[in-house]
Amino acid sequence: MEEMATKVMAKINSIQITTILRSSLLLTGLAPLVVAVIAAAPLLDDDRFNLAMVLGVLVALSISWLLGSLVVNGLFMGAIKRLQDFCLQVKQGKYDGFDDLPGQGLINSDENEFISLMRDMGWMARLIKKREQELRASIAMLKAAQDELNQSNACLAEMAMTDPLTRLYNRRYFFDHLEQECAHMNRKPQSVSLIMLDIDHFKIINDKYGHQTGDIVLTELSRAIEKTVRSGEIVARIGGEEFAVLVPDADKDGAVHIACRICREVREHVFKDDEEQTFKITCSAGITVASQASVRSADKLCKQADIALYAAKEAGRNRIYFYDHQYGPIEVTENGNGYQNMS
Ligand code: GH3
Ligand code: MG
Ligand code: MG
Repeated sequence: MEEMATKVMAKINSIQITTILRSSLLLTGLAPLVVAVIAAAPLLDDDRFNLAMVLGVLVALSISWLLGSLVVNGLFMGAIKRLQDFCLQVKQGKYDGFDDLPGQGLINSDENEFISLMRDMGWMARLIKKREQELRASIAMLKAAQDELNQSNACLAEMAMTDPLTRLYNRRYFFDHLEQECAHMNRKPQSVSLIMLDIDHFKIINDKYGHQTGDIVLTELSRAIEKTVRSGEIVARIGGEEFAVLVPDADKDGAVHIACRICREVREHVFKDDEEQTFKITCSAGITVASQASVRSADKLCKQADIALYAAKEAGRNRIYFYDHQYGPIEVTENGNGYQNMS
């Protein structure tokens, strides 16, 4: 029963309102005639009466049809079409419409229902437009704030890993990276080299030329070291006048070559103080290589490079020492074919 009622409702709902309206008007026009025919049943034998009845039905049908067309097309269809067009516009994101509505009375009841409906819909559309504009402005503001935040985060992340004076990586970043590199390398049959550098007698440079010139030396030296390394090799300032270079995938030969290049670059660089007085500096270096045979731990590498650097200082500075796993620190120097052990 319920199913039947649902089906009937669906059927009724599927009939166009204008069709129902036309049919209702037609029935309304014919109804008095039907009543008249029933009331005048005894006269049905009269030909003239029958002719009058037929004519009456025809006239009633014509008037009902004409009236139906006028009412449905003139009154309803035009307004419904405008509302449909307007809804389509709104669906497409265009919120303007109904600009030609007659002047609005304060109370909507003094205009016809369709005009009132259009006015309300127009008002709703303008409200949607306004809200959409506000929403777009808020989204733009949020996006700008998000961009600013991303920039600040990137800046903070860079600051957290960078030394402010030299713009090189700082000590913390370098040792974190070294640990990661060691862990990564332990899964691969590659060696990793660590070079530690320390400026010789830097205190004297500061004392002689001033702390500010000392800062310039540190900055210029950083650029000089950066110039000598290749991509993938990490340079960091790990202390006041101490630097470290991590060379992944380098054996003793490669590491010594890089250390020699850096020390030569430092030795040959001409610095100037604030009175244009020129001077040169030297540095000492300690190298260690963790080959595939040995366990690669960041701690161990640092200690070995430190021992080699200390040995270079002890031996008189401006030299390079390599940490040999069997013999301990030995001095190395470049020759035409590569390097040679000095001790
Ligand atoms: P050594 O050859 O034994 O390394 O001698 P050194 O004088 O280089 O070493 P020492 O450790 O005695 O002195 C290091 C100096 O580096 C002392 C300190 O004032 C200076 N220093 C550390 N950080 C900075 C800095 O940021 N700027 C400047 N200008 N000097 C710094
Ligand atoms: Mg020093
Ligand atoms: Mg030092």
